[in-house]
Amino acid sequence: MSRKVVIASGNPGKLAEFRQLLSDKGIVAVAQSELAITDVAETGRTFVENAILKARHASHYAKLPAIADDSGLEVDFLRGAPGIYSARFSGEGATDERNNRKLLALLQDIPRQQRSARYQCLLVYLRHPDDPTPIICQGTWEGEIVSEPRGEGGFGYDPLFLVPGHDLTAAQLDSGLKNRISHRGQALKLLLDQLS
Ligand code: IMP
Repeated sequence: MSRKVVIASGNPGKLAEFRQLLSDKGIVAVAQSELAITDVAETGRTFVENAILKARHASHYAKLPAIADDSGLEVDFLRGAPGIYSARFSGEGATDERNNRKLLALLQDIPRQQRSARYQCLLVYLRHPDDPTPIICQGTWEGEIVSEPRGEGGFGYDPLFLVPGHDLTAAQLDSGLKNRISHRGQALKLLLDQLS
């Protein structure tokens, strides 16, 4: 019998990644947007707080178990920014392109050794909105920020995120490979192990 969960995200890039990974386990992922559930304000100060807020909101309105992730990019030279503000880095009406441009401007002329960065993903599974023991999994993906965008795949900061050992950005990686090795792929693998 297939299990159904609501995914507390409207981000098409993330949804595609979740769907691909969950369907292998016979879990049907319904996007909250398909149920007309709107986004909740991300008022937490940490990835984990925001992920719980999002999962609780989606589970409440969908009346289903919920998975939410909160993720972002930490750049060492910027003392961990943009972090939880990754999606909103360039302010009101932020787009991936504007966020990437801002990041490149802040790192202009900074040498390669100081361009280390990592993606973080905090994934939360709530069985129901009042679940007092959420399953919480974390994935971390180390890399560095290149000085010009490369590649068409992925989303967000992927054209700027160089994957060590591949000499490719995350936007140049095959999507199946990205899903296996990325921060979200790692966190989701941990979660699936716990669910099964
Ligand atoms: P969230 O939807 O609030 O978790 O925001 C996550 C933001 O972090 C996204 O909008 C992207 O800017 C960035 N991000 C997280 N994961 C990825 C990824 O896999 N590739 C590129 N950018 C990502």
